[in-house]
Amino acid sequence: MTHIDRPTHTRSAPRRDVLISGAGIAGSALAFWLNRHGFAVTVVEKSGTFRSGGYPVDVRGTALDVVERMGLLPRLREQHIDLRRLTFLNGDGSEAASLHPHAVTGGAAGRDLEIRRGDLAHALWTAVRDDVEFRFDDSVETLDQGDHGVDVTFRAGGSRTFDMVFGADGMHSATRELQFGPEERFQRYLGHCFAVFTMRNTLGLSHETLMWNTPGRAAALYAVGDEDEVHAFLNFARPVPPSDAFGGREAARRLLAEVFADAGPPVEDMLTALRDADDVFFDAVGQIRMPRWSSGRVALLGDAAHAPSFLTGQGTSLALVSAYVLAGSLAGREHAAGFAAHERTTRDFVTRNQDLVGKGGALLFPTTARALAQRNERLRDLSSAPSPQPHSAHSALVLPDFGVR
Ligand SMILES: Cc1cc2nc3c(=O)[nH]c(=O)nc-3n(C[C@H](O)[C@H](O)[C@H](O)COP(=O)(O)OP(=O)(O)OC[C@H]3O[C@@H](n4cnc5c(N)ncnc54)[C@H](O)[C@@H]3O)c2cc1C
Repeated sequence: MTHIDRPTHTRSAPRRDVLISGAGIAGSALAFWLNRHGFAVTVVEKSGTFRSGGYPVDVRGTALDVVERMGLLPRLREQHIDLRRLTFLNGDGSEAASLHPHAVTGGAAGRDLEIRRGDLAHALWTAVRDDVEFRFDDSVETLDQGDHGVDVTFRAGGSRTFDMVFGADGMHSATRELQFGPEERFQRYLGHCFAVFTMRNTLGLSHETLMWNTPGRAAALYAVGDEDEVHAFLNFARPVPPSDAFGGREAARRLLAEVFADAGPPVEDMLTALRDADDVFFDAVGQIRMPRWSSGRVALLGDAAHAPSFLTGQGTSLALVSAYVLAGSLAGREHAAGFAAHERTTRDFVTRNQDLVGKGGALLFPTTARALAQRNERLRDLSSAPSPQPHSAHSALVLPDFGVR
């Protein structure tokens, strides 16, 4: 049943009615900023409530200024995970290299945030839930735009007209499909597939990641604290995406069991846990690259517009920055000028961060024995190098000041 949270108070005479599809990171952040700029905001989310689960995500560089301007930085700092060690192991369990995670991610120690995705989603949602209307357990069925606005029908019933519609519905965005065409047109497959799920912390890991690599395969356990559960991660190379395995959880499980069949004890335990896990997330590693992020009165943001892939670790930061700039660019402008201003401001920043992918993929998941040996050599060099420089791409945009906090 659709559950609607209505605003408990309204701001003075909001002029434009807008709809956001997706209450994830990008959607909630955009709702926050559009509300601040005086828009009447409705958010439609297909889940029954905001999604609390998930792996840890990074907030870095320019995106830290966004959460600071939202007043969320102190709370998020308290929830910082503080991962201390990243250990790479060979297939037989012997150590290949051990180093601080920032040496690999190009993060800024002491400044960047790494937090559970659910903690960030909750902080964003609580910052805005009293001011905008959330329609949970619902989604957009049809979009029909004209000069007067966008006519929307909802899956749970009913229709409304909005001045603008925003697709913040993630990598596999239904808004993109409805308005811009099929995903294949915009997806850039990066040659790997991955699964994440939680399992018992049988190795007693604490604030650390262990990653086993063999050519073309990786398995990792990620302990965010001293908890009883860890995030398990399985990644494997495939020149062509195994489309059959995206059809359902069982198909994905079967494929993973086949790919990792001879992988040895720690991975065997992961495969056993995978059989019982109820939170398996399986997907291709890919990016979304689009020539334009808007069409008429409909615009995309976050992963829907420009997913950079987890190999860059920048998906969350791009989502936060695009939400802030998009809302500010629309304040006092009509939609076409606002969307164009947003693209002018953020396009380079987004591209620079998407381009980080070459480095991440090659470093973490080599596909040949030779490339793996070279990678391990590089990791050992990195571990003895002085403090690494953060990637300049993370801070490549200075946030405009739109006069609203
Ligand atoms: C394994 C993995 C590891 C990652 N690691 C990192 C990392 O280390 N650092 C990092 O920064 N990022 C990481 N990311 C990426 C990061 O989670 C996303 O890039 C980021 O959350 C982008 O936010 P978003 O709001 O655009 O999309 P999402 O967070 O995916 O939110 C989309 C929302 O839309 C909703 N939705 C979907 N379809 C519909 C529909 N039809 N109608 C209504 N609602 C809908 C969904 O339920 C969801 O709430 C990782 C991702 C994965 C999969």
